[in-house]
Amino acid sequence: PDFDRMQDLAAEDDGLGYSLRPKTLNEFIGQEKAKEQLRIHIEAAKKRGDALEHVLLVGPPGLGKTTLARIIANEIQTNYKQAIGPVMEKLDLASTLMNLDQGDILFIDEIHRMKGYVQELLYPAMEDYQLDLAIGQGPASDVVQMPLKQFTLIGATTREGLLTGPFRDRFGIRIHLDYYEAKDIQQAIRINSAKLNINIDEDAEYTLACRSRGTMRIANKLLANVRDYAQVEADGSLSLEVVKDALKFFDIDERGLNKQDYAYFQTLIEKFNGRAGLKALAVALSEDERTIAEVYEPYYIKEGFLMLTPGGRIATDAAHEYFNYPVASQTSL
Ligand code: ADP
Repeated sequence: PDFDRMQDLAAEDDGLGYSLRPKTLNEFIGQEKAKEQLRIHIEAAKKRGDALEHVLLVGPPGLGKTTLARIIANEIQTNYKQAIGPVMEKLDLASTLMNLDQGDILFIDEIHRMKGYVQELLYPAMEDYQLDLAIGQGPASDVVQMPLKQFTLIGATTREGLLTGPFRDRFGIRIHLDYYEAKDIQQAIRINSAKLNINIDEDAEYTLACRSRGTMRIANKLLANVRDYAQVEADGSLSLEVVKDALKFFDIDERGLNKQDYAYFQTLIEKFNGRAGLKALAVALSEDERTIAEVYEPYYIKEGFLMLTPGGRIATDAAHEYFNYPVASQTSL
């Protein structure tokens, strides 16, 4: 893979032709616990003059893991390099690691999807700042050890449970991000509207916030979509009325659910009587299992619409009510 391209991807805007990423911890909205933890570790590392311990950022997509990694680099004033876990091969990782300077930050997204044999190369690198490279094959092969500079690895994952215990333990700092409250998202919408010169009413901000699924990335996307709608169908200003019309036009309901979400629950309830395994659901929906499990379902669970049980996914009474199905009481097991 081409690491320059990955750097480009990392610099992507938010689909708004403008990067809305906060640059400092103070600008990063909400997640107070996470920020406090990071402040302390950053301060301590600075005082000691050491590289920051390795950091694991855990949470659903779009909550700010990449943003936080960049903020950490910015707060420590060090170099930032980014890589994407699943596509890395041993050599990519080796050359990336060898090019890191003292204190540099290497951010690896989707670290739970890194290939096992590539992950193994990371263990000694993280623990002893040392690279164990196998030279040659078969009986004549040898292992060469290369020293590395003290760097900081920041790994991001949507599913901490998919990391092996030993891997997880090598991160000295583990930070969990949770879905945002509407008031935090409203604040972000206000700030971003100002940056983008969008006129928006307070009740419109709040409505957008409530429909963003507790997710900053979705809030930014909705804002972009609604702005487009308002520019074409109205005078460009975002009043509550215009925002509601726009959300209706884009098929986003009061809880931020869209056509795909309706299809998910329709399938689970009608086709599978409210209980199904991930594989069966994925096939029925023609969707990728991982996308369902890592992107859609965490929000359904948080909203109380879905339960994960050993016997499969179960649509709760709340889901039956919300999607207008008779409540099937076997869900209150
Ligand atoms: P992740 O890496 O967890 O998928 P990102 O860091 O890419 O999420 O965040 C998605 C977008 O949401 C970013 O472009 C950023 O503008 C915005 N964002 C995320 N967290 C915050 C926050 N706490 N405050 C303001 N904006 C945020």
